[in-house]
Amino acid sequence: MIEALYYQKKENRSVRCRLCPHNCLIEDGKKGFCGVRRNEEGILYALTDSRVVSIASDPVEKKPLYHFLPGTSAFSLGGLGCNLICRHCQNHEISQSRDDEAIGKLYTLEPAKIIREALDRNCAMIAWTYNEPTIWYEYISTTARLARKAGLKTVLITNGVINREPLGELLPLIDAYRVDIKGFSDEFYQSLTGFPFLEIVKRSAESAFDTGVHLELVTNIIPEMNDGEDQTENLILWIRDRLSPSVPWHVTAYHPAYKMNRSATTLSALETIRKRGLDAGLKHIYLGNVYSSAGSDTVCPSCGTTLIRRTAFSVIENIMDRDSCPRCGHKLEMFQYM
Ligand SMILES: [Zn+2]
Repeated sequence: MIEALYYQKKENRSVRCRLCPHNCLIEDGKKGFCGVRRNEEGILYALTDSRVVSIASDPVEKKPLYHFLPGTSAFSLGGLGCNLICRHCQNHEISQSRDDEAIGKLYTLEPAKIIREALDRNCAMIAWTYNEPTIWYEYISTTARLARKAGLKTVLITNGVINREPLGELLPLIDAYRVDIKGFSDEFYQSLTGFPFLEIVKRSAESAFDTGVHLELVTNIIPEMNDGEDQTENLILWIRDRLSPSVPWHVTAYHPAYKMNRSATTLSALETIRKRGLDAGLKHIYLGNVYSSAGSDTVCPSCGTTLIRRTAFSVIENIMDRDSCPRCGHKLEMFQYM
């Protein structure tokens, strides 16, 4: 374990962590809310630095990222802990683990080894995913710098709950930012995740977009919680007007998990929201966790030609001429080649 970044020493050997908006005041011997940053005698340590739960070589489409090097593989890493407690978390065994023994059982993967493994497996990028990566801040920063030198891209699959200053330092090292925008009201965020962090998440996405980092958004639609017209309409307008109509938006179906057992989202509910977004002018709305070819293909927003056909996270056909439509010449905001 190494000393953490972004904290302040306080009286009686306590520390204030400044990484995320919890701004935890941590007493000597205790951990922060995320479960992976511990105060030992007035020094804050990153307990899971270079400690990994799972690695895999995944299609980039599985993240999901549809406009970033389509058809390539992402060397994907997951760790322990999270700074939210989402009631429907699919990965709650790792995200909500607060067990010191579990940390002791993680295996070690040094940053240089990640780069070698990713290159050996012909991956185009390194993706931090499965649990919340920003609480792995030091590990990500170090590895991302090495990735740049090795010609690998870097991707964060994140909930966007991080303070402005550390995010500002991290974004120049990151090529793609795939952020969950879980809903569009603080009440909803509070009830689902335990905290009213909507504004923080919006600010994260806006920072990534303003910095020129490739951005894609995901909203998991939960029946009668965040599928109402008012919430989705405001979210659509924010994407269109504050970000860009070209930012890909993945609208995914909720399935019962962890502490939530209401029934799963239907395809028709997702299609209604997709239509709402397309009618408002959004150009790329994809459907996830359901079978829908119309919701997984990339279509030229200008002439309607199907440019990329996908099934089950793989690209079956890609007829794009670099980043343009071969039929009408329309240029898409798509990161096609290294
Ligand atoms: Zn076209």
